[in-house]
Amino acid sequence: MTEHPRFDVPITPPERVTGWAGDRATPGGGPDLPVFYPASGQQISVLVEDDADAVDVAVTTARRAFDTGPWPGLSTAERTAVLERCGQVIRDHADELARLECAATGLLLRELRERHMVRAAYNFRFFADYISQRAGERYDQTPGYLTTVVREPVGVAALIAPWNAPVALATMKIAAALSFGNTCVLKPSEQTPLALARLVELLQDVLPEGVLNLVNGRGPVTGAALVAHPGVDLVSFTGGTETGRAIMSTAGQRLVPCTMELGGKSANVIFANADLDRALDGALLGIFSNNGQQCLAGSRILVERSIFDDFVGRFIDRAQQIRVGDPTLAETELGPLASHPHMMRVLGFVDTARADGGALLTGGVRRDDLGEGYFVAPTAVTVPGNDARTAQDEIFGPFATFLPFDTVEDAATIANDTQFGLVSYVWSDHLPTVMTMTERLRSGVVWVNTPMMRELRAPFGGYKNSGVGREGGAACEAFYTEEKTVTLPKTPPPLRRLGDTGG
Ligand code: NAD
Repeated sequence: MTEHPRFDVPITPPERVTGWAGDRATPGGGPDLPVFYPASGQQISVLVEDDADAVDVAVTTARRAFDTGPWPGLSTAERTAVLERCGQVIRDHADELARLECAATGLLLRELRERHMVRAAYNFRFFADYISQRAGERYDQTPGYLTTVVREPVGVAALIAPWNAPVALATMKIAAALSFGNTCVLKPSEQTPLALARLVELLQDVLPEGVLNLVNGRGPVTGAALVAHPGVDLVSFTGGTETGRAIMSTAGQRLVPCTMELGGKSANVIFANADLDRALDGALLGIFSNNGQQCLAGSRILVERSIFDDFVGRFIDRAQQIRVGDPTLAETELGPLASHPHMMRVLGFVDTARADGGALLTGGVRRDDLGEGYFVAPTAVTVPGNDARTAQDEIFGPFATFLPFDTVEDAATIANDTQFGLVSYVWSDHLPTVMTMTERLRSGVVWVNTPMMRELRAPFGGYKNSGVGREGGAACEAFYTEEKTVTLPKTPPPLRRLGDTGG
C-alpha cells in the first residue's frame, strides 16, 4: 500500500461553531454542517446553521444597536479609537486567526499570516484614517443662506462574504460599514466559517454590544433570510455572479441598496515588447496565487503570436516546478483547493477544453500521491479561440487558458470578449501600446507591468457581470452613508409670500 504524507490540521478548531447576536450565540435552528480540512479531507468541526428565526435575532440585535445604541452617534475621534483597537486585536491574534483560516480554506499559512491578516488589520487602520480626514461640505452661494451637507450612517448592513479569502475580504466590509456608523450582520461562507467566527467573538470585547453580529449557514437558507429581512438597510455582497443576481432581485423588492463584487475572467495580455521575465513571474502569480481562487485571477493569458511558443514553454517549465503540498509549510507554493466539489469542477474543465478542440499543456490531474486532500497540479491549456468555455467561464482554480493574438487591436478585442470586466493585466514597455490598451479595456482595474496592486483609496469593482458599485475609500463612503442637505438662513431675508410671483 502506498504511504501518503500526513497533513496535520494547523490548529484544533472548536467542535461546534455558532453565530453571534451581540455577545451571545445565535440560536441556530438549522442542521449541523460539516467543516473539512482541505489538505486531508477530514472533517474538523461542525457549523450550526442559523435558520430564519436565528437570523431575525441577529438582525434585531443590530437594529437595536443602531436605533438606540451609542455607535452611530460617536464622535469621529471615539470611533477611530475603536477601529484602531479592532486592528490591534487582529495583530494580537494573527497566528491563531491564520491557523483557523488555513484549517477551513487550505490556503497557505505563510500567506495568511504575512498578507491576509496584515491586510485585515490594515482595513481597520485605513478606514480609521479615512474618516478622521473627511470634512463636510458647505455652500453659501445663495445670499443670506447657508447650506451644509452631512453624511449619516444608513443603518443595518448585511455583509455577505465568499470562501476564497474570508477574513481579508470580510474585514474590508466590516471596517467600512462600522467606520461610517452602521451596525452589521456578517454572513460568511458556510464552507469557511472558522476564522471569522473567532474574529467576531474577539471583537465583542472592543465594540459596543450588538454592533457586529454573525449568522452562519447555507446561502439559500441563512443568506436568503438575511437579505429578505425587513430590518436590513443595505447589502454588501462578494461572491458569484448568479448569487449576486438572486440577492439583488430580493433586495430590489425593498429598494435596498447593494454593492456586488462578482466573478471575473481576467485577461493577462503579454506583448513581445514587454520585460518578459517580469511578465512570466506576473503570469504565474496571476493564476497560481491563492490557487487561482481569486476573482482577480489572470486566468486568460493572451500572448503575442511571435513569442507565443517560447513564452508558453517557459510558463510550463515553471508551472511544473511549483511545490504542491502541505499548506502549513513555509516552502509550499500551492496548497489544496478549498473543497472536494470545487476540485472536481476544476478538473472537469480539462475535458471541456478538449471538447472545444483545445490541448492540455500541463497538469490537469488530481495529485493522488498527496492523499485525500483536494490537490490539483498546476494546469494550463491552449484553445483554438476565445469562444471556448475555458476562455469564457470562471474556473476559479490553478488553471490557465492560453490564446495567441496578433495586434494591439486584436488583443483588446479578445480581452474584452467576455461577460466579465473585473481586472486586466497589460505587460509592455511601449507607451503607445500601454495607452491604447488602458483606453480600450472594459474592466474596473487595469494593472500595467505589475500584478494585483490594490490601492484602498481607489475604487475597486467590475464592469459588466463582474459587479455593481465599487469598494474603496470614497466609494465606501458613498455606499455606507446617506447624504443630508441642511439649509438655514444666516440673516433671514423676507420670505416670499404664497401667491407672490416675485415679479
Ligand atoms: P457564492 O456566490 O456561492 O457565495 C458567496 C456567499 O453568498 C456565501 O456566503 C454564500 O453562502 C452566500 N449565498 C449563496 N447563495 C445565496 C443567496 N441566495 N442569498 C444570500 N446569500 C447567498 O460564491 P463563492 O463560491 O463563495 O465565492 C466565489 C465567487 O466569489 C467567485 O465567483 C469569485 O469571483 C467571487 N469573488 C469576487 C470578488 C470581487 O471582489 N469581485 C472577490 C472574491 C470572490
